[in-house]
Amino acid sequence: MAAMKIVRTIPAMQALADRWRRRGLVVGLVPTMGALHAGHLSLVRAARRACDRVVVSIFVNPLQFGPAEDYGRYPRAPGRDRRALARAGVDAVFSPSVGAMYPTGHATGVEVTGPLVARLCAPRRPGHFRGVATVVTMLFHAVRPHVAWFGRKDAQQAAVLRRLTRDLGFGIRIVVAPTVREPGGLAMSSRNAGLSAGDRRRAPVLFRALRAGREAVGRGVRRRAGVLAAMRRVLAAEPRVRVQYLDIVDADTLEPIPRLRGRVLLAVAAHLGRTRLIDNLVCRVSR
Ligand code: AMP
Repeated sequence: MAAMKIVRTIPAMQALADRWRRRGLVVGLVPTMGALHAGHLSLVRAARRACDRVVVSIFVNPLQFGPAEDYGRYPRAPGRDRRALARAGVDAVFSPSVGAMYPTGHATGVEVTGPLVARLCAPRRPGHFRGVATVVTMLFHAVRPHVAWFGRKDAQQAAVLRRLTRDLGFGIRIVVAPTVREPGGLAMSSRNAGLSAGDRRRAPVLFRALRAGREAVGRGVRRRAGVLAAMRRVLAAEPRVRVQYLDIVDADTLEPIPRLRGRVLLAVAAHLGRTRLIDNLVCRVSR
């Protein structure tokens, strides 16, 4: 197997991808912001199984962080990431500098509008999904993948990117993979590294709350308010967990549903100290 390539510029990435495409190879992309954990690596393994060539991008995208957010503090571990990706059999790491992605004068953005960005994280993080849509469009043009993998943990991101890919006719298959969790249920996230030891013990309450919501649905509760109340009761046990939102929406359209039916998304965002965590569960409600 050829050694893993480290690619730093868009033209170099396009040249490599074009060589692969000319040979008829199927190219997969896993976009990440690095500080890789088992959640990222599950996407990489899925891509490895499905594609002839796998590219993992590592780029902490300043465009998707608000001015008061954690861009400067976001964890970075380039050496460890490279070693993990080489072990996972990745063909290339696309890891451009901020200047290579956004040279002086860069003035173009991509924005998905409408119900997908009306609730959940979007109103709490103005500009975030525009930053995500812009960078992913650029990554798609750099890597020219046939297939791209995203995690269910960022469910709104996945929905926005599916819409974008369809609306702009990119012809890329989007795969959304299950959330990988710690043994206590906490969704793996690069941001978990910022939790104190005490908060690390408190954080699994988010998953317990989602599970309580799912159990309420299992007991036949169908009113949104009833399911939310079951989730709130669990969260109340950890007053240090400052809930930013708790919501129940249609899993595909992300629109609010007063009575639960079909595939529904139970979603939560909370601050623990300076760290913001999100998580969600999809439930199927038969009737
Ligand atoms: P990030 O580096 O946080 O931007 O995440 C890169 C990709 O990995 C995104 O598609 C995330 O949804 C996905 N991801 C992050 N955490 C997890 C997890 N715990 N399980 C599965 N996928 C994840």
